Amino acid sequence: MSESAFSKLSLAEPLARAVAEMGYESMTPIQEQAIPVVLTGKDVMGAAQTGTGKTAAFSLPLLQRLLKHENASTSPARHPVRALVLLPTRELADQVAQQVKLYAKYTNLRSTVVFGGMDMKPQTAELKRGVEVLVATPGRLLDHIEAKNAVLNQVEYVVLDEADRMLDIGFLPDLQRILSYLPKERTTLLFSATFSPEIRRLANSYLKDPVTIEVSSPNSTASTVEQHFYSVVDDEKRHAIRQIVRQRGITQAFVFVNSKLGCARLARSLEREGMKTTALHGDKSQDERLKALEAFKKGEVDLLVATDVAARGLDIKDVPAVFNFDVPFNAEDYIHRIGRTGRAGASGLAVTLVAPSDTRLVADIEKLLKRKIEIEALEFDEDRPRGRINDGRRAWRGQGEDEERRERSEPVQQAQERRREPRVSSAPKDPFFDQPYQPPAREEAPAWEATAKPANRISANIKPKRKVAALFKGE
Ligand code: AMP
Repeated sequence: MSESAFSKLSLAEPLARAVAEMGYESMTPIQEQAIPVVLTGKDVMGAAQTGTGKTAAFSLPLLQRLLKHENASTSPARHPVRALVLLPTRELADQVAQQVKLYAKYTNLRSTVVFGGMDMKPQTAELKRGVEVLVATPGRLLDHIEAKNAVLNQVEYVVLDEADRMLDIGFLPDLQRILSYLPKERTTLLFSATFSPEIRRLANSYLKDPVTIEVSSPNSTASTVEQHFYSVVDDEKRHAIRQIVRQRGITQAFVFVNSKLGCARLARSLEREGMKTTALHGDKSQDERLKALEAFKKGEVDLLVATDVAARGLDIKDVPAVFNFDVPFNAEDYIHRIGRTGRAGASGLAVTLVAPSDTRLVADIEKLLKRKIEIEALEFDEDRPRGRINDGRRAWRGQGEDEERRERSEPVQQAQERRREPRVSSAPKDPFFDQPYQPPAREEAPAWEATAKPANRISANIKPKRKVAALFKGE
């Protein structure tokens, strides 16, 4: 039996069966470390990102401990809420709730999810039937508490998942209120991609002697992501993206920018250059957002240009590559951005384009990752735009690049825009979020390859799923 086999855990048969059915062979590092601790009922502070298998890391032991309450009664009174899982966005909540349902499918433990932006009635009906595991976003949960649909006085476990993002969105007061409704005697599990001072304060207030679990170091990025920082002047950035996409045979990618304005402009100029591109930013209506995502899913779009706010809660896994067209203003956003790739066993590529003015922002990322970042020179193809670096001649520019240049020279405006963009994700519920990223079944080559040399159609960055746990260990 392998060291990290699930069978080592002596999970109850219904849970072990569900895990086997999911096809999991061995535990991921966070599971190996967290499951035995949670099984003892201790509080946990876990540094883990989405994509590391942390949902199973807390749900499996939690379900195991709740099995003593399992019953087949139809009476709601026999199914009080025993475990509460809080998440920042509806997509994440929905995704976690689906996983919990799968792990609990052979038990009589009930679970449901409540989040905003949806009719309260069906959620109320579910709550009134009685559920042992309630997955929720904070705002909507408070609505249900106020409406007396959710009674939390028998909660034994609370999970604050993606805690850094909950604080980032401004959920602290809501969390404080919710936690005040819970029994003092309980187990509290907190998971966060980063351990910022705010997170530590939250943990100090609400966790009792927590066991700290760090998969690698806190504030780390997934080891399956190949990260590159290229020194590129602003005018060269689009060309850099085109070239890397072509050379690596990348089929689809996210491109992150720092402002709404920049997002729309970059998408337009990439589109003009023949790349099938769409923009996703805070000014887009829900309908437009859904259409953009749908188009990306179907492979009608190759590049999704997004701002951090628009991408928050957008839980698409295993996107082959992420480009940081702009170095993020907040170093923590770097971790969130590149978490879009290299998830759950697929390796990914994260490319950050660093302009000379970005040195301070890169230093912030270095501090957060606690490692030195090597900024590489990017060798351009023969067809690179001429007159670019060091030769003093006028740079080749398309109209779109002119627009971008103006934008890059307006950092104050950018910062203002960023501040104006609402911090709370307005992502709609969308079945698309529930699915892992699937490379679209594409008959024709991406637009940029039509004119380019034939490239390897299979990305060097996509590896088979089977090796999940091994990859998590950075093997
Ligand atoms: P999470 O980090 O919880 O969002 O999980 C990311 C993905 O990894 C989910 O699709 C899980 O189904 C999958 N996963 C979780 N644990 C394992 C495991 N031990 N082996 C293989 N896949 C897993």
